[in-house]
Amino acid sequence: MFDFLSMKKNEAKHRIEELTRILRAHNHSYYVLNNPTVSDFEYDLLMHELDTLEKLYPEYLSPDSPTRKVGNDLSSVADTATELPSFPDNGIVEEFKQYPHKYPMLSLGNTYDPSEIYAFNERIQKATDKKFTYSCELKFDGTAICLTYTKGILTRALTRGDGAVGDDVLLNVLQIPSVPHRLLKGGNYPEEFEIRGEIYMPYQAFDKLNHQRELNEEPLFANPRNAAAGSLKLLDSNQVRERGLECTLYHLIAPDLKAETHLEALAMAASWGLPVSEHARECKDMEEINQYIRTWDKKRKSLPFATDGIVIKVNQLDLQRSLGYTAKSPRWAVAYKFKPEEALTRLNSVDYQVGRTGAVTPVANLDPVQLSGTIVKRATLHNAEQMELLDIHLGDYVYVEKGGEIIPKITRVEISRREAGVPEAIFPRDCPACGTRLVKDEDEAKHFCPNSDFCPPQRKGKFIHFISRKAMNINAGEATIDQLYSKNYISELSDLYKLTREQLLTLDKWKDKSADNFLKSLQESKQLPFHRILFGLGIRFIGETTARNLADAFKNIDNLMKAGREELLATEDVGEKLADSLLDYFAQPRHRKVIEELKEAGLQFSENEQEKEPVSSALAGKTIMITGNFSVSREEMKKYIESHAGKVGSSVSGNTAYLVAGEKSGSSKLQKAQKLGIPVVSEDEFYKIVETEQHKSK
Ligand code: NAD
Repeated sequence: MFDFLSMKKNEAKHRIEELTRILRAHNHSYYVLNNPTVSDFEYDLLMHELDTLEKLYPEYLSPDSPTRKVGNDLSSVADTATELPSFPDNGIVEEFKQYPHKYPMLSLGNTYDPSEIYAFNERIQKATDKKFTYSCELKFDGTAICLTYTKGILTRALTRGDGAVGDDVLLNVLQIPSVPHRLLKGGNYPEEFEIRGEIYMPYQAFDKLNHQRELNEEPLFANPRNAAAGSLKLLDSNQVRERGLECTLYHLIAPDLKAETHLEALAMAASWGLPVSEHARECKDMEEINQYIRTWDKKRKSLPFATDGIVIKVNQLDLQRSLGYTAKSPRWAVAYKFKPEEALTRLNSVDYQVGRTGAVTPVANLDPVQLSGTIVKRATLHNAEQMELLDIHLGDYVYVEKGGEIIPKITRVEISRREAGVPEAIFPRDCPACGTRLVKDEDEAKHFCPNSDFCPPQRKGKFIHFISRKAMNINAGEATIDQLYSKNYISELSDLYKLTREQLLTLDKWKDKSADNFLKSLQESKQLPFHRILFGLGIRFIGETTARNLADAFKNIDNLMKAGREELLATEDVGEKLADSLLDYFAQPRHRKVIEELKEAGLQFSENEQEKEPVSSALAGKTIMITGNFSVSREEMKKYIESHAGKVGSSVSGNTAYLVAGEKSGSSKLQKAQKLGIPVVSEDEFYKIVETEQHKSK
């Protein structure tokens, strides 16, 4: 345990600021982008550290510290609507209206430490002389929702938002079969009431969704929670219906209710036709609470949906009322969180996968094992250094865990189960696909195969990259490339444009229609602007933004191919590595030949200033303010915003959708944005927001 007391005051201040920044960034990734970058456990450790430091140094506690505010899922701050919602005929809304919560929608105090549950129990006992009990419930791992029923009809469904104001996602909630639009006839329900609960995605629906996304080459959701939150925020409710969401309700708020306990209130809600969990139990003391926790820590592994803990609530409503709330959570409830599930299994072998860029990733083949609702057979070992750190031997028993990422990782080895004489897993010296000696730059974690033109997975990877949505957007996937490649129809990128209908019809399961679609999308790709092709060529270190910048700076491929090192380095955004990579690429006659052939096929190799259409409408109707320095020039950042149909604002105002803050941001703009509640995002976060919006509008 870290010794906080021996920390110097200025160190504590510095760390508090640092943790605040980190936690805000994680909140944004988790609540707005639905794309966490660390596991909940890691996040909770950071939050705990900040909480401890703020208690020791209250002089550094800021009123809007992440320990004091609930996470915010609002993607933009709009004026609060007052009128009742009306439904568009096609089920698609342009944006969600926002409404204030009648009662703040808070979080829950949480702990991974059983002794804190005892402390919670003692606090409650001290607060009352009366007899009381607890309601123990599963903590469903989804996204919170607040439903309002008026005269038995569902009239509003608000997300938690920032706790005070939420997005109305009623149309989407109506797509969830278990949520009734009308309550059962004859039910003795109040004229108007609120009921809160969780919208979640069962494992089966989650697997189906991710499988489909994989086929469509869309980014996968990291876990069912993020998938549920992302789905609930889709603007097209028709798509929501297909996502297989479920709902469970756990908190009825109706001031004049004739119920004395929380569990009685839930039973009433169930009798009106509302979906209430069947797993809640009344527990009278710590022994019964412990029993409930023990039972569900095991049983939850066979539930068809994700749970991340147990919620323990005071059952008597009058005692709940007298205990009240802190700024962030109720004093009458606490969540006991389960540690991230890990599974122990045997490592059988390690594959070394060569990616499109030549990066080699070790992937462990495991004895299949059940982990958080799915069967895990493979896990990443990241790189050679990580393998060394873990001291991996073939045949070892290893612990596997799912973090923020989709692919499970190996966290440690169970040395006590290692058999004598088992061989160490040794990272290869040569490329497993083509035998070329691997290279590793000092500042990179991964080894690379430098034989980019002839190494088969890299060659195939180049085609897959070239046809991908963000490059040439050709109507085909990996399986098609595999077939074309194995039939020797393609060897260079330009061969794609030489394919004939007859050749395509020899592919497995290809009919006239698939061939026509493919040929049509090849034709269409010829209209795409120069920077898309530049990105599609797959030159190392050229991402989407760099391709756009290079196209802007050099206007056409001939200028770019002619440019010397000095000229390249004098271009914004071009560093030594990129300059070398470009020079290497264009120095090779076969690359020049491919470019010539692509030109002949009719692809655009010069930037046509007149025809610059927005790349997407991700920022349509949004005004973005920028401040500080970015990894690209400010001019380029402005162009990027405009290329996604956004407007660049001249000052921070109520209309500003985001303030993108780079290095050395102006503090007056930041302060103004904070005052107006405008989301302040980093450059990276901003790119992610645009990407997410692009996907949503697909
Ligand atoms: P939370 O998810 O820990 O707990 C509160 C929520 O539990 C409630 O809002 C409700 O939606 C839900 N819940 C489920 N079942 C319930 C039941 N039976 N009764 C009452 N509530 C129930 O809190 P939060 O504020 O939504 O999120 C904070 C947590 O989210 C953090 O502790 C962390 O684990 C995670 N998080 C992770 C990251 C990351 O980057 N990994 C970032 C932000 C937050």
